[in-house]
Amino acid sequence: MIAEQTLPLGKSSPSESANVTCPNCEQGRMQTFYEVRNIPVHSVLLMPTRERALSYPRRDLRLGFCAKCGFISNILFDPKVHEYSTSCEETQGFSPTFNAFARSLAKRWVEQYHLQGRSVLEIGCGKGEFLVSMVELGMGRGIGIDPAFVPERLNTPVASRLEFIQDLYSEKYTHLQADVVCCRHTLEHISPTGSFMSMIRRTIGDRLDTLMLFELPDVFRVLREAAFWDIYYEHCSYFTTGSLARLFRRTGFDLLELELEYDGQYIVIAGSPRAIMSEGREVAAAGAISRGKPAIAPSLASLPGENDLELVAAEVARFPERFANVKQHWLSTINGLGAEGKKLIVWGGGSKAVSFLTTLGLNEQIDYLVDINPHNHGKFVPGAGHAVKSPETLKAHRPDCVILMNPVYEKEVRTQLQNMGLNPTILPV
Ligand SMILES: [Zn+2]
Repeated sequence: MIAEQTLPLGKSSPSESANVTCPNCEQGRMQTFYEVRNIPVHSVLLMPTRERALSYPRRDLRLGFCAKCGFISNILFDPKVHEYSTSCEETQGFSPTFNAFARSLAKRWVEQYHLQGRSVLEIGCGKGEFLVSMVELGMGRGIGIDPAFVPERLNTPVASRLEFIQDLYSEKYTHLQADVVCCRHTLEHISPTGSFMSMIRRTIGDRLDTLMLFELPDVFRVLREAAFWDIYYEHCSYFTTGSLARLFRRTGFDLLELELEYDGQYIVIAGSPRAIMSEGREVAAAGAISRGKPAIAPSLASLPGENDLELVAAEVARFPERFANVKQHWLSTINGLGAEGKKLIVWGGGSKAVSFLTTLGLNEQIDYLVDINPHNHGKFVPGAGHAVKSPETLKAHRPDCVILMNPVYEKEVRTQLQNMGLNPTILPV
């Protein structure tokens, strides 16, 4: 049995959690409220053998909350353990549901902000799917930066208007200027977030018509639902709409939009740089992408979703008890089904599944994982060590229950199962 365990608060060493300054606002102190021990430091890096998956490096995760800015982070996070590289299979680009969402977001942004013919720099572009969409939908030129980019997978008629750099973004890329700075599902992997956003603001300099387009997971839903499977080692930084908006404003950006999308799972935020302080006075930016187009005025007043500090503090306070209940629910459900001799599989071979399995300490209760990404098949998930196979293998396996790691895919998964003549019970998390 693997030794993962979750601890109630109060059993952790006070010396380790006391006096940690917030890495986001650099003012508040982090109050710890959740801990899970011995989890794999990577959950998207799949292993070629079960042995290597089981012996994958582990660390503890301890979430702290800053009552001053609302930020949540793993205060034990050690960035040195990470190896972001081409073997990272983080892409969700094989799901029709996710593809449709990403494509519609790209289309909305291009149309709403008049981005036809403009240039875009995407920080943390992954395999480049979104950047390709932006350029295919009319943007003039795209530059993507990500250590996990794989050139061989690029397949688009607009390839000549795209450039990719296999690296982490830093100030040495200040010369890569673009009309739009896009950053999706990346900020949650970065610590400290305050200095990262300030660095981006410095690289933009006085180009006040630059547009900032960011998307990342919303932790408010994770707190409210005790969705512990959305808490894992790669994600060191957790935002709500309010804490993200405060970070943007504090590091020199005004806001253009602040929304929850993808069934409320992701925060979508747009901003524009504010003029650097001049004689002790801040001057509002003229508005993003204003050259020759109607300016979109930034919002100096608060947008809906910004003032959530008290709400988030209340959800953080309730989280430990809620988590204990949700954990107990899943353990009794899964162990009960196992006692009845039911065959269980998990649908989704990504980070959520790894966190679900390792936080609950599941082993033989789950037969294996299925995933629609063919690059994952035949590999093993770090920590728990389960095999990842193609959905087609279910035809022969005939599971009784499918634990679905993302309810947003329920329709898509049910259709795929029915097309194989299968009708198992689907248990969405
Ligand atoms: Zn803070």
